[in-house]
Amino acid sequence: MTGPEHSCGIVGAVADGDVMYHIHRSLNVIQHRGQESAGISTFLDNSMKTVKGDGLVSDALSEEKMRGFVGNIAIGHVRYSTVGSKGEINAQPMVVDYSKGKVAIAHNGELTNHKELKAKYQESGWGFMSDSDAEIIAKILAKCLAQIDDPIEAMRAMMSELDGAYSLVILINDRLFALRDTYGFKPLCIGKTLKGYMVVSESNAIDSVGGTFVRDVLAGEIVEITKDEVKSYPLDKPMPKAHCMFEWIYFARPDAIMDGREVYDVRKKIGMILAEEAPADVDVIMPIPDSGRAHALGYSIKSGIPYEEGFMKNRFVGRTFILPSQEEREAAVSSKMNPIKSTIAGKRILVVDDSIVRGTTLKILIKSLKNAGAKEVHVRVGSPPIIAPCYYGVDMKDREEFIATKYSVDEIRDIIGADSLAYISLEGMVKALEIPADDLCLACANGKYPTFIPGEVHRFESE
Ligand code: 5GP
Ligand code: MG
Repeated sequence: MTGPEHSCGIVGAVADGDVMYHIHRSLNVIQHRGQESAGISTFLDNSMKTVKGDGLVSDALSEEKMRGFVGNIAIGHVRYSTVGSKGEINAQPMVVDYSKGKVAIAHNGELTNHKELKAKYQESGWGFMSDSDAEIIAKILAKCLAQIDDPIEAMRAMMSELDGAYSLVILINDRLFALRDTYGFKPLCIGKTLKGYMVVSESNAIDSVGGTFVRDVLAGEIVEITKDEVKSYPLDKPMPKAHCMFEWIYFARPDAIMDGREVYDVRKKIGMILAEEAPADVDVIMPIPDSGRAHALGYSIKSGIPYEEGFMKNRFVGRTFILPSQEEREAAVSSKMNPIKSTIAGKRILVVDDSIVRGTTLKILIKSLKNAGAKEVHVRVGSPPIIAPCYYGVDMKDREEFIATKYSVDEIRDIIGADSLAYISLEGMVKALEIPADDLCLACANGKYPTFIPGEVHRFESE
């Protein structure tokens, strides 16, 4: 599963005073959105200054690196990439020097036409330093800004060239802007801070700096944020929306509120609906930590069956999902999760996880539950089977790797070694989301894409 860009985390802030505390703290809070690199750009004394590096925020933006790095307007980024595309060259913000100054951008999402754009501009003589979408976006924006005086019109011109998913925070010299693509694939929200405003991928970052949530940036909206106000430039006509379902299922932290729905509440409701759709005769309900926790709790509340923790997760082991080989992934899952024996031995257990992609996690963990003496292990899953690749920034790209494209639910049950297996229905999941299905991107679950993708079915195409 390689690709140029994946779900990342972005933030911007402006205030009457230094904003580095807001930016740094926010990047820490949204660290789960990307651990490969982090960076901050600020416009100070007529120039763009950037600090970035590989690894976690605590390393990439260490105290030492941050010393003396101040500014009252800044943007920041944490990057999720796959193994193949690491390196500081891809770290963001991307900064471009253009005829009227500097532009810096931090991007979350993935362009579906990045190859075409890169080829087109390479033909016209441009060079690129990285394999990142963000560089393409930054250079196209710089071109538009050079041609069009009004920055809002320049950003609209840029947006007309970009296809796919992009939430952006942008510094154009000393001005801060933020925008979401017209579908609103990736989240972005606005907060009020003591002496200014901020914009960030997840609302929990606003809480963490003592700010107050104002609202989401709307799909297709551009905002200019100053220390005193948020100026809105919305779409002039309504366009179809497609908020990524996987943000609520897996990607965002449970304390985030995105497009009006709290992630924790959605996951708990999914668990409750699963308990109705797929009841089980078991002694305990157990989550696969951490992402399956709220789903499992909802199942327990609705079914009245006690909730127990069955695994201790080692927080210091990184993501197992992105390791390149199946052997490495399996070894990493078992070293990351250790069973808590007293809650397992002799019990009929129901484990709940948020999703099954390749089936690695559950196969290993069911074996470990059985080794620890579980009598039966049943599985319930908080999303429908993942059957189609994501072209919009979630790290699920290769149809061939998805267990549900090759096997039926009964076959998957046998492969992972469960005594029973059920997924939530698509309808059940949408009900828990409380967002109309037409306003969601459900492509990974139903194979219908909100934008035109060659060789794939468009969501409004009749079957
Ligand atoms: P599997 O082990 O079946 O391949 O993947 C499912 C597990 O990985 C679940 O526990 C889920 O929380 C997690 N997961 C699902 N999608 C992603 C993703 O895009 N990135 C990462 N890091 N983990 C994921
Ligand atoms: Mg998980």
